[in-house]
Amino acid sequence: MPTINLRNVEKSYGGGAANAVSDLDLEIGDGEFMCLLGPSGCGKTTTLRMIAGLEHLSDGEIQVGERKVDSVNAGIFVPPEKREMGLVFQSYALWPHLTIERNTDFGLRLRKVPKAEREERVEKVMRTLGIEQYRDRYPSQLSGGQQQRVALARMLAVNPEVLLLDEPLSNLDARLRLEMRAELKRLHNEFKTTIVFVTHDQWEAMTLATTIAVMSEGRLQQVGSPNDIYDRPANRFVAEFVGSPPINILELGDQADGLAAAASRYLSERYPSLSQVSSLGVRPEAVRFTSDASEVKEGSFAVPAEVAGVLPTGGSWIIELVAHGHKLFAVSHELPEVEAGQSVTVWAKPKALHAFDASGRRSQA
Ligand code: ATP
Repeated sequence: MPTINLRNVEKSYGGGAANAVSDLDLEIGDGEFMCLLGPSGCGKTTTLRMIAGLEHLSDGEIQVGERKVDSVNAGIFVPPEKREMGLVFQSYALWPHLTIERNTDFGLRLRKVPKAEREERVEKVMRTLGIEQYRDRYPSQLSGGQQQRVALARMLAVNPEVLLLDEPLSNLDARLRLEMRAELKRLHNEFKTTIVFVTHDQWEAMTLATTIAVMSEGRLQQVGSPNDIYDRPANRFVAEFVGSPPINILELGDQADGLAAAASRYLSERYPSLSQVSSLGVRPEAVRFTSDASEVKEGSFAVPAEVAGVLPTGGSWIIELVAHGHKLFAVSHELPEVEAGQSVTVWAKPKALHAFDASGRRSQA
């Protein structure tokens, strides 16, 4: 399978609007499950469409394996049908007049694959996706989720080297979505196809991806494993976009503020070489609290706080804490042994603290 390389890719739709994609350098490795993650309008779909050849680049180039498929400078543009990529979009169009089996077979016939081989491949993907019992039905006789499976089967049948998926699960209800995620993951393990998957759903990206590329306003913010993105966000945008409930952020600018002053003092004592920290983040999962201050691990950042509320969320609890007038959220997966109004010590281990400079970039090693 080829590696896909995007170099200095720019896309402007013209008309004076800001670039849809700017200065994008991205390598998608062989067999990777790459999720393009970001809020609506950040340029994910545009990026996917450029890889597919459905959109011309305004600048830069795209290389797939040894082959340049697009280069503005060299005047190269390989049309979509010659790129050996499978595409599944949010709205997957099945042929309404063809049975499920014929729909699955469609791409193979188009490519004039011999009959015996076609039959074998169609059987295999229908079985893998659990749609063989619907083979004689028409798309209108299937549920949305089943149709989505057929769309995937049709793509997989032609054995594309690269599968491009644009929010392919967005039409499904929560349960089916979960099932299809597991299915996609299994398919990826089985077929080892390189997958580029567009989503604005952080959990979807976290559960599916081997690598996540986070985008904002047309620019790449960070590329890394789901753990990297979560545990070592490259900047505040990534820190705040990923994680639910969202990361607690403390602005350190105002030294008159008790909590900011305490945090600044802690940072300068513990990390004397760390300069110009302008904000500090800590994920709710990493916020600890205790009524017994001796439980605080040595070297941690700790401040007195009061419990403002305990909110059950079904299987876990959100604990609202107030420290020096600041609201902080903690998450516990066990019933917390505290109640509103109680005084506690709130603390976090040093490695749970994310320091950012004035431009929002991560400032610790
Ligand atoms: P969503 O999750 O909402 O689909 P996205 O991250 O996929 O968003 P894109 O669809 O790539 O974002 O859009 C990026 C920017 O380019 C947006 O500002 C959008 O309005 C603009 N855009 C997209 N397609 C076109 C087009 N055909 N003509 C003009 N502007 C476009």
